[in-house]
Amino acid sequence: MSFESSGLSSALVRATRERGYLEPTAIQAQAIPAVLKGLDVLGSAQTGSGKTAAFALPILQRLLDLPRDRPRQVRALLLVPTRELAAQVGDTLRHFAQYLPEPLKIAVLFGGVSINPQMMGLRGGADIVVATPGRLLDLLDHNALRIDEVGVLVLDEADRLLDLGFAEELNRILGQLPARRQNLFFSATFPPVVQGLADQLLRDPVRIEVPLAPETQPDILQRAIEVDTAKRTPLLRHLIKEHGWTRVLVFVATKYATELVTHKLGLAGIHAHAFHGELSQGARTQVLADFKASRVQVVVATDVAARGIDVARLPAVVNYDLPRSPVDYVHRIGRTGRAGQSGVAVSFITADAEAHFRLIEKRQGVRVPREQVPGFERVEVAAPVLDAHGGVKGQRPSKKDKLRAAAARSRGG
Ligand code: AMP
Repeated sequence: MSFESSGLSSALVRATRERGYLEPTAIQAQAIPAVLKGLDVLGSAQTGSGKTAAFALPILQRLLDLPRDRPRQVRALLLVPTRELAAQVGDTLRHFAQYLPEPLKIAVLFGGVSINPQMMGLRGGADIVVATPGRLLDLLDHNALRIDEVGVLVLDEADRLLDLGFAEELNRILGQLPARRQNLFFSATFPPVVQGLADQLLRDPVRIEVPLAPETQPDILQRAIEVDTAKRTPLLRHLIKEHGWTRVLVFVATKYATELVTHKLGLAGIHAHAFHGELSQGARTQVLADFKASRVQVVVATDVAARGIDVARLPAVVNYDLPRSPVDYVHRIGRTGRAGQSGVAVSFITADAEAHFRLIEKRQGVRVPREQVPGFERVEVAAPVLDAHGGVKGQRPSKKDKLRAAAARSRGG
């Protein structure tokens, strides 16, 4: 299938061309016809698969084709987990909508910024709303919009929506939607709660699977480098220099670490910027713009802040600290090697992180060979993890241990 033969109008095809899309990606080739037919879709796909256009294009087409009672009633609602993703999805929709014969109003609503401009922006209605659940509910509570005429609902990154604790908000929102509607559900992973939500929402969905596991994406090379905790910043500097990475997204565990690593890179003359949840929306937008324009070489981010970052041609992602969950790992490394471009995802494996990385590998069903970089070899050993009884976790007591314990008990008792 090509964009021309996909059933999209020439105005939409023209906008895809201008965005540099030549051929539909796998998920686009499958989702576009299904959405145009009005079917529900269950998409197993992560960021980087082209899923945004996979729902944005056919939704715009359907809004044009389907009759409506009055203009500017919300007919498509797209729920996303983060403000960055909301902004990106909004931008994508606006780009694709630019040549449509009649203008569509697209409202983008997210928290962390003042609610008033968003309320003003909703005066006179909107055709499409892209929102994070919390802010949408606030605006619904203020009667700033109505969603009882929504014909298409999209849940994007459903696993993250639930990860971030939006289950209750989602239920309240679903309660305000009309029962008859088309549902499009996208998620990178399907743990039981996500599957449960999908089962609740979807009716005979068309199932589209774009392989999740990064090992099936030859364009992302996963590397695991053993290193001591204190040698991570020097190793990072070394890798940046050695590989000539022009843009690197570095993940750390805390806001404090974003600032510390940024500072240390700065001392070495590398232009880095911290990116965490406490930056104002304006500051975040500025950092991303500088990153995209190559004014900043390294962005050091926490998971929360980095959700949904979409920077084209990101050659490298570095897990300076490992993410807490395997889901986050998949999302992190999905920031590189996007849409057919190759990328590398490097994880720093300190002795203490080894066991956790093994879990991440297990969940993905891959094994990433451990590497040592000369001059940065790991010498630390893992601190034993004590269980509740003061024993070493994961280590069963040997026969000898048991005998000793029994002897101690009989001596004491
Ligand atoms: P997404 O998975 O929607 O976040 O898209 C990942 C990246 O792929 C974005 O930078 C898109 O602009 C790009 N992209 C999406 N579809 C295509 C396509 N058909 N051809 C080339 N690039 C695309």
